[in-house]
Amino acid sequence: MSFLDNIFSQWSCDMAIDLGTANTLVAIAGEGIVLDEPSVVAIDNEVNRVLSVGTEAREMIGRNPGNISVERPLADGVIADYDVTEAMLSYFINKANPKTRLWQPKPRIVICIPCGVTSVEKRAVYEATIQAGARQAFLIEEPMAGAIGAGLPVEEPTGSMVVDIGGGTTEIAVISLGGIVTSRSLRIAGNEFDEAVARHVREVYGLNIGVRTAEDIKIAIGSAMPLSAGEMDMEISGRDLSTNLPRSENIQSEDVREGIKNPLQEILVAIKETFLETDPDLAADIIVNGILLTGGGALLKEMDRFLTKHLDVPVYVSPTAFTNVVVGCSMALENPSALQRSYTQR
Ligand code: ADP
Ligand code: MG
Repeated sequence: MSFLDNIFSQWSCDMAIDLGTANTLVAIAGEGIVLDEPSVVAIDNEVNRVLSVGTEAREMIGRNPGNISVERPLADGVIADYDVTEAMLSYFINKANPKTRLWQPKPRIVICIPCGVTSVEKRAVYEATIQAGARQAFLIEEPMAGAIGAGLPVEEPTGSMVVDIGGGTTEIAVISLGGIVTSRSLRIAGNEFDEAVARHVREVYGLNIGVRTAEDIKIAIGSAMPLSAGEMDMEISGRDLSTNLPRSENIQSEDVREGIKNPLQEILVAIKETFLETDPDLAADIIVNGILLTGGGALLKEMDRFLTKHLDVPVYVSPTAFTNVVVGCSMALENPSALQRSYTQR
């Protein structure tokens, strides 16, 4: 660390950001998680101005007049809209670390990216982080951060497998000796489940529902396998496709299961394929250690049982599924070798 860096680090904070497709979390070293908001931005298209970000912006989804668009700039796990992402990042960074002095050094930031993004995409996240107010930016791969945060023995000479099911992407990685050995990123995750539920309700019940309602249904009664504690049902409301009038319907867990069958299968196949590409010794470790599920999508009921049954490997859900990535980024800040392996500016 240079002399200047030493001085800076006395005053500035170290910050960790989980820039998720659905939610962004920010942690500050020594303070813990200080921000947890949806990755959403509302824009006034007439004057091309950001109106609101995060929780406030999400409230506008489905309620916005024509001139306001509500965007998820990372919908597919990468920066789809650079300017909007940068505006969102700088809003979150300033909110997490408000200026309290006239002059305040900028923070060092560790931020995660999905694995398998191209170097152009890495560069875009790096640039957006610097533009948004970082003094130094380090990029680490999301499943690595998730594994560190969940307490997996990533530095050990043993294979660990982590599957992070987020909103836009599912990240599958085999980790050993501090690095990702095999990985796969697929653009099928929680959002895809929501769309599949909405499609199913439309086709089977002739009822039009929005993706937010579909997400509520998925979280409340959805499951990957018949529920061991008993099936559930729920009263839902939507617009009748033929009369265009509001109508209610009672739907069951099984409806949701039927709806999400395909995306669920695709996640299963991707895990199997990753397993096949894994060195036999590491695969043997994983059979013993099990597979860790993390990310909000891992909380789908019976997800662990579904995967355990079809993979024949023990699969367990992390009790801290939502926070592993940001906590892992934060821990990486204190680990020089993890930072050295990260992407900075190549
Ligand atoms: P990202 O890292 O991409 O921002 P998150 O890890 O925050 O994503 O997970 C968001 C996803 O998790 C959303 O698709 C959301 O619907 C889903 N989710 C959250 N809670 C549950 C739950 N209890 N059951 C099923 N899915 C859930
Ligand atoms: Mg995530």
